Amino acid sequence: MKKIFFVCLICAAVSLTGCSINSSLNRIANLSVAKNAVQNYYESGEYDRECAKIIDEAIEHISKIKIDPKSAVVFDIDETALSNYQYTKSIGFGYIPKLWDEWMHEGRAPAIKETKRFYDYLISKNIHVIFLTGRDESVREATRENLIEQGYAKFDTLIMCSKNELQLPSAQFKTTKRNELVARGYEIIACIGDQAGDLAGGNTGYKIKLPDYLYLLD
Ligand SMILES: [Mg+2]
Repeated sequence: MKKIFFVCLICAAVSLTGCSINSSLNRIANLSVAKNAVQNYYESGEYDRECAKIIDEAIEHISKIKIDPKSAVVFDIDETALSNYQYTKSIGFGYIPKLWDEWMHEGRAPAIKETKRFYDYLISKNIHVIFLTGRDESVREATRENLIEQGYAKFDTLIMCSKNELQLPSAQFKTTKRNELVARGYEIIACIGDQAGDLAGGNTGYKIKLPDYLYLLD
């Protein structure tokens, strides 16, 4: 579940520079060009604008539905609640497991501001917030403190991967956990994430997909 595919960067650059996938078969983007395109996307404000539009639509949707005492929204963490952009950039947009583990333990990832806006809206409506992440239990305390320091202070639970769940596909792991939440009485009205696996399977409610040009998870 933790494997991160750097080839995503190439795809991102192809997408961001407007090239078609077909043309890329014979002309793969230069790695420096790919990195520059991704950096420009995140630092030009385009990422924030895309997120703002997605969150505006999500808030509009939720404002129109009936909220019950057990209504809940499930949040992914990395590249959803918290941003690892600056860290990823600092190591040249790669993925080094040891450094990634150290970064999570530092607990310094900043909130993604549009996700935080969405979170604040939900809290104001007394909607339950649940964090469901592919991070493993070894970083529970650092993750919890990171979330709280970034303003995500109120949530029902933080669900993380146990050792024997780490090899499960993300979609399977998250679907199982959502089903358990529903069995506990929650009504999941929406899920927000940056990976397809965050939003696959049942019991998702309204699906909120944020952009992610840094990596793909299996
Ligand atoms: Mg994520």
